[in-house]
Amino acid sequence: MSAFDFTQWPPLISDKDREILQFRATSYALAHGLLYLPPGAQPSAPTSAIHAPISLFPTPFPRDLFKQAQKLQSIYNILYSRIAMDTEFLDQTMGTEVGVGQVDEFTGKLWSGWLDLREKGLVQPLHLGLFRSDYLLHQRDSDLSLKQVEFNTISSSFGALSQKTAEMHRSLETSTNVYHASANLTASKFPSNHSTSDLVKGLAAAHLAYNVDGSRILFVVQAGERNVFDQLWLEYELLEKHSIHVVRRTFDELAHQANISHTDSVLRIELPDQSAVEISTVYYRSGYTPDDFPTNTQYETRFNLERSKAIKCPTIPLQLAGGKKVQQVLTEPGVLERFLCDEAKYGPQRVFSVQTLAEIRESWMEMWALDLNGEFGVRQARKRASDLVLKPQREGGGNNVYKEAIPGFLDSLSVRERPAWIAMELISPPVGLKNYLVRAGSGASVETEVVSELGIFGWSLFGGGKVISEREAGWLVRTKGKDSNEGGVATGFSVLDSLVLV
Ligand code: ADP
Ligand code: MG
Ligand code: MG
Repeated sequence: MSAFDFTQWPPLISDKDREILQFRATSYALAHGLLYLPPGAQPSAPTSAIHAPISLFPTPFPRDLFKQAQKLQSIYNILYSRIAMDTEFLDQTMGTEVGVGQVDEFTGKLWSGWLDLREKGLVQPLHLGLFRSDYLLHQRDSDLSLKQVEFNTISSSFGALSQKTAEMHRSLETSTNVYHASANLTASKFPSNHSTSDLVKGLAAAHLAYNVDGSRILFVVQAGERNVFDQLWLEYELLEKHSIHVVRRTFDELAHQANISHTDSVLRIELPDQSAVEISTVYYRSGYTPDDFPTNTQYETRFNLERSKAIKCPTIPLQLAGGKKVQQVLTEPGVLERFLCDEAKYGPQRVFSVQTLAEIRESWMEMWALDLNGEFGVRQARKRASDLVLKPQREGGGNNVYKEAIPGFLDSLSVRERPAWIAMELISPPVGLKNYLVRAGSGASVETEVVSELGIFGWSLFGGGKVISEREAGWLVRTKGKDSNEGGVATGFSVLDSLVLV
């Protein structure tokens, strides 16, 4: 295990060097498309952009644990693909009859819509997943390990901007002398990151599987999205490297512009000149939160796209598989075995060893359902509150309840609502680690104690009981001030960062 002293990071530098780094970093970001749209309403053709929030130094991470996270990704790709194909499991866990869908309206609506479509008959057996498995370092005494925060199956963002951030840190290493302050800050210790091209290979694999000349990929996006450049880099890569065109639409636009053929379920999107293009793959960068469904119309649009012949990234079952509830149920005895050790179902070549299952479990914190054994789940949550986070079935940050807020929250939670929540032991990242964080328009960088979350991207194309192809697809680091519980970059709590392996 690495004996790296996190309290000594970053190296001491002068105020002058700090200014040089900031100038170089923000200039690089602006010049290379490491950008956001500015806050506030924007014209339909944007005229300005701001640099994304960034750190001035990459964050040290033990090399063996980084390799471990990369190695686990293939197994997670297969695991979540199989969960999405296990209708019985999803009905039990997320459905409205016995699962979370009974009490969580959003989950219930998605599941019910899917059930309805299943009964009518779905025509596209393939699913595409672009995944991100998120981790924090966990420190116990001098022992460091890798612990999973969550597994995302929908709208995982920052694939493109994380690659740009890693490239920015590389550039700071070569273009200034400031990184000479630490022997660790050498390019050979910066792991490569090709998340843009790697993730796009997943989208291209689905497009190729659909196999219709002239078809396009549909990006379903949010109106007013500020993180557009992260999405646009994927579009440019699709067009330039794979000759695949992209159409971007919101749910509201699709309500009028999406047409599904009655005869063969082909999805076509109306273009401004009133011609129509066939869609091979629907990639959602929207639809992960109930806020994206203010009325029934957006649900109807989602279900319409779901029933079309286009390949969905993700399908509803794959979105449901990414629920926090599923993450918790996986920790119950025998559940991982159901997905990874069933030779009769998956074939003797496609099951995993006891050792592999142990490694996966080693990456988990303790989790339980709040409705576990009558009052027991809640009683445990009260007793261990200072060491816990409670999570509902939501994505996108800002939904969890932490530590001292837990008892009061439990007082306000009705017995009926409990099954929608899980309790998770808090991960304890190394303390004393610092960085300089820079946000556009806020002047000097902020020196602060930080926590860094590593995300490993992956993709999987699967269906008909089988994983057709899957890959690990690069990585992401988001760094937040230590005192902020949540880590969403888009919500303003954290910055994009990269790694130095120690
Ligand atoms: P979301 O899907 O909304 O991103 P997460 O499960 O990732 O939900 O939780 C949001 C943030 O809360 C994480 O990025 C992390 O900063 C923090 N967090 C979540 N679970 C834990 C945990 N077990 N220990 C410490 N921090 C956590
Ligand atoms: Mg998260
Ligand atoms: Mg999430």
